[in-house]
Amino acid sequence: MRQTETSIIKVGNEEFEILLHENEIQKRVKELAQKITENYHGKLPIIIGILNGSFIFMSDLVKNLSIQCEIDFFKLSSYGDEKISSGKVTMLKELNADINDRNILLVEDIVDTGLSISYIKNILESSNPASVKIATLLLKPESLKHNLDIEYIGFEIPNRFVIGYGLDYAQKYRNLRSIYALKQ
Ligand code: 5GP
Repeated sequence: MRQTETSIIKVGNEEFEILLHENEIQKRVKELAQKITENYHGKLPIIIGILNGSFIFMSDLVKNLSIQCEIDFFKLSSYGDEKISSGKVTMLKELNADINDRNILLVEDIVDTGLSISYIKNILESSNPASVKIATLLLKPESLKHNLDIEYIGFEIPNRFVIGYGLDYAQKYRNLRSIYALKQ
């Protein structure tokens, strides 16, 4: 049986407080999956997760879709073990799928500056897909620096560092079921 999560998590000298409870997240993921199901009916989309952070959101999202879809992943590295983006993106794993004339849905855990998702969208668009749309669980509108259309947004959150539900702190805490924000 899994442990019940507390509302405060201590990491060294820092404290994280609950921002989004697991029930709220699950409810919202189902709503997003419902919209995606309606919009991609008969289109056999390729749903592409951005590793590592999106793995839990991606899994919950596709389990709630009632359409046929294919799955692939990109792996990027931009944060290292820091809490602030390095402003650089490195591709660590490329796609296996042929995306020519396909409908692509990119799945991100969080859009912060928008650099990572813009970088990937540009790469994909050069391979002539039928469409490229974005689904992100979290968006930090105050941090966004790139001009992006994001079709599916789970939650808009303040500009705070968050962990849990796939999001890490130095590679840990991804397996928390709720999302926690660094206390200011
Ligand atoms: P962007 O390229 O939009 O600035 O950053 C996107 C990536 O940065 C996300 O996929 C995620 O890996 C990481 N990131 C951005 N904000 C946070 C945050 O608050 N917490 C964690 N753990 N990662 C973040």
